[in-house]
Amino acid sequence: MSAPVRLADARHLIDGREVDSVSGRTFATIDPSTGTELARVAFGEAEDVDRAVQSGRRAFQAGSWSRLSPGERAKRMRRLADLIHADADRIGAIESRDTGKPLGQATAEVHVGADFLTYFAGHAELPDGRTYPVDAGYFVYSKREPYGVVGAISPWNYPFLLACWKTAPALAVGNSVVLKMAEQTPLSTSELGRLALEAGIPAGVLNIVHGDGPTTGASLVAHPHVPKLTFTGSTAVGQAILRSAADHVKSVHLELGGKTPNLIFADADIDQAVAGSLFTAFYNTGQICTSGSRLLVERSVADRVIAAFVERAGRIRVGDPAAGGTQLGPLISAEQHARVTGYIAEGLREGATLALGGGRGAVEGSNGYYVEPTIFTGVRPGMRIAQEEIFGPVLSVITFDDEEEALRIANDVMYGLAATVWTTDLRRAFRVAERLEAGIIWTNCPHYLPVNVPYEGHKLSGLGEDLGIEALQTFTHLKTHAINHGGGSMGWA
Ligand code: ADP
Repeated sequence: MSAPVRLADARHLIDGREVDSVSGRTFATIDPSTGTELARVAFGEAEDVDRAVQSGRRAFQAGSWSRLSPGERAKRMRRLADLIHADADRIGAIESRDTGKPLGQATAEVHVGADFLTYFAGHAELPDGRTYPVDAGYFVYSKREPYGVVGAISPWNYPFLLACWKTAPALAVGNSVVLKMAEQTPLSTSELGRLALEAGIPAGVLNIVHGDGPTTGASLVAHPHVPKLTFTGSTAVGQAILRSAADHVKSVHLELGGKTPNLIFADADIDQAVAGSLFTAFYNTGQICTSGSRLLVERSVADRVIAAFVERAGRIRVGDPAAGGTQLGPLISAEQHARVTGYIAEGLREGATLALGGGRGAVEGSNGYYVEPTIFTGVRPGMRIAQEEIFGPVLSVITFDDEEEALRIANDVMYGLAATVWTTDLRRAFRVAERLEAGIIWTNCPHYLPVNVPYEGHKLSGLGEDLGIEALQTFTHLKTHAINHGGGSMGWA
């Protein structure tokens, strides 16, 4: 069991300065591996959010970033990436404590965050418009322009990485950003804010406000001077954001929940499929919107796959995130622990067979929010554990007889974020991918997502494109200019 640790308190970053809330209110961020307070954090209310938005708006209007030459913007973003790489061990240690992720994994994610900044820096200098064939004497062009202040709201499962993922494309094209990180994991984002200033990103361009959803997040969503919102989190909150955004007809980008099917066909390389499926089911303690939380396996190979799967899952090392060799840390919070164990009880109540796990495993006795890898077999597609996003290390195994049935089960959920397919038959790979209702499909490569590859959630999983060149569209809006330079006078004489 690890001993309680304390880290530096966190404040908002507004107009280039670290400040407390106007009210002086703070809240605790908890170390999920011990259940103890890690640091105090400023709690942003409507007034603090307004100060951050006004600061972003002033910076945008002054042009310190929005009208800076694109090459210079790119240069400063690359400098920020370099600063992050150089400081990644320290930031990774903070991230590991605040999230419960194994230390090595947390540090690797900090480097990935920096890589997002490097990649999107290049977007600053890409062409951003078109011309159109029109009547003689006229010239018409359109161009993409930044919105102004982008409000970015992020969850706790990949704090630093998602902070970079969301801010990098928004900044590259000249927006200002107000970032509201999840209340469970605010600490690493404060480091991003400090390094951004050091890299020469002007005061007011990147603002960070800490706090909860209903007060802080909702104030940002409702603010009239935030014309663009980007949100990653639960479908229920995404729906609430969309409703609230209607008042000011805001543009909203949403990346929401998932219930990713992971289909193993009998013609798959079974060894490869088991190893990859284990990874997609349990990595990050199952707290990923694209986790392969439904294992659909063809009946003729089911016994073999399940036996190998249960045996290998039982060997996954759950424990202290700071200890070398740990593969799975705890869940993020007491609330999430209660939710996940509630689903385990629900699976048993619904009549599924518990083939592995269900408890805290080797860390029994710890006050951390641990749940060991848990596998249910004999799951029917309609059960709640097969329909709802659990966001924990709980896998539902369902068998199918043929491709048609596999597709029917895979698509019969409200989500449509991702799907994974295991097959060695190339024709099947294309055929199945065409019919899967998901924004991204991985054949024999779960979670493969290089930064230049875009994706978009389908059904209740999202709205708008993420990553890749497509992010340019997401963080800009269109302006069209028609010029009469000799086409004759128009209008009434
Ligand atoms: P999760 O289920 O992963 O905790 P949530 O959707 O609850 O995800 O939260 C993701 C982010 O959305 C967090 O930063 C949270 O504070 C914020 N949030 C929650 N409720 C609201 C809301 N009503 N308006 C705006 N943001 C919210």
